[in-house]
Amino acid sequence: LQDGQISFYEQGNFTDLCKGPHLPDTGYIKAVKLMNIAGAYWRGDEKNKQLTRIYGVTFPKQKLLEEYLVLLEEAKKRDHRKLGKELDLFTFSEKVGAGLVLWLPKGAAVRDRLEQFMRKAQVKAGYLPVVTPHIGSKELYVTSGHYAKYGADSFQPIRTPNVDEEYFLKPMNCPHHCEIYASRPRSYKDLPLRFAEFGTVYRYEQSGELHGLTRVRGFTQDDAHLFCRPEQVKDEFIKVIDLVLHTFKALGFNDYTAQISLRDPENKEKYIGSDENWEKSENAIIEAATERGLKTVTELGEAAFYGPKLDFMVKDVLGRQWQLGTIQVDYNLPERFELEYIGADNQKHRPVMIHRAPFGSLERFMAILIEQCAGDFPLWLAPEQVIVIPVADKFLNYAEKVCNLLNNSEIRTSVDNRNEKIGKKIRDAEIQKTPYMVIVGEKEENEGLISARRHKLGDIGTFTVEEFLQRLNQEITLD
Ligand SMILES: [Zn+2]
Repeated sequence: LQDGQISFYEQGNFTDLCKGPHLPDTGYIKAVKLMNIAGAYWRGDEKNKQLTRIYGVTFPKQKLLEEYLVLLEEAKKRDHRKLGKELDLFTFSEKVGAGLVLWLPKGAAVRDRLEQFMRKAQVKAGYLPVVTPHIGSKELYVTSGHYAKYGADSFQPIRTPNVDEEYFLKPMNCPHHCEIYASRPRSYKDLPLRFAEFGTVYRYEQSGELHGLTRVRGFTQDDAHLFCRPEQVKDEFIKVIDLVLHTFKALGFNDYTAQISLRDPENKEKYIGSDENWEKSENAIIEAATERGLKTVTELGEAAFYGPKLDFMVKDVLGRQWQLGTIQVDYNLPERFELEYIGADNQKHRPVMIHRAPFGSLERFMAILIEQCAGDFPLWLAPEQVIVIPVADKFLNYAEKVCNLLNNSEIRTSVDNRNEKIGKKIRDAEIQKTPYMVIVGEKEENEGLISARRHKLGDIGTFTVEEFLQRLNQEITLD
């Protein structure tokens, strides 16, 4: 086929069109579990007899099967769609439309913390925040080449009363950022320039493809585009790698490899950009990865036609792999947008463009994060960090006082003032995975203390509010 191969497998006189491989015979099956059954008509025709299709998994050892079933059960428990509902993080509405996420206050709080985290790290790394609109004119995407490539698949044009005007919902932020670069003359002394934006983009996905937060029709990227001189590519890569690793560390992703995608050396004419520049940037990526001691795999021929890239393949606690933190060199867009800078030689040169997004899409990243921590967010991210539970209504005033003290010290706290038994309030706070519970009653009020429980640890003793704050702040900085 034009874009790959298809394979056939034979079992006796049965030929199967499938990806394979097939087992040579059933003797290899040592452990089996039936997972599901479904009705099917012979040859897909409802006039034919109904058959039962059975689905199962098999492993060469009973132990491997059992491990797989445990992981499967754990994956179900951690499913971000289930936890998203239980923890009040996000929802969807048919009226709003399929694949369009509605962030609830708690989910929005986590997302906002992630944005703040990235904003702070980016300012330190010399990024310049920019803001661009959600739509762009047809001409923008014709220039970028996205119209020719994705026109039919992307959203339909937005028309205005002026028949000559046609706009599109923005499917990516890069073209807008190119125009920011082009908004005035640039000198080699201005470079590198790093434009960052939490840019919301829209892409049409088939409704059958939509899945929770991982496949949506509107999402926000922690996007940035770096414009630099060819000899600055390595330094920029090192800085982005540092930013990505800083992010992984803060969020507990410790198991990753870097995949470096280079061009196919046999087919150099397939790629845009000069041989010299490709060589420079491919070496820069390899050197940057080596300098940062990354475990790498190199894939020849996996580069995009417009530039080589580095991806992080991250393993989550269930051993599933996610592609995160792509850093992509681009020789195409600077060419199409005719971006230039004046070099030290007083001549015009093309800058190199680098796309990068450590989280990728905030929606997809939240899904991965929720499943990774099973909804039990690190303290600095938790939407609600402390809940204060009075043992009876008469201690409500004291509970409010403690709550205010904590909130004034920037600890996200609320009081559970519902008319419920204390046991129920504690159970509910456990289900909500609120990191800390503070219980106050007569003894606490008289002595000006609080009793605290840490999620998963249980009772951790009595503190003054001051001591308790110290403990929280210590945990937050450790995170
Ligand atoms: Zn981009």
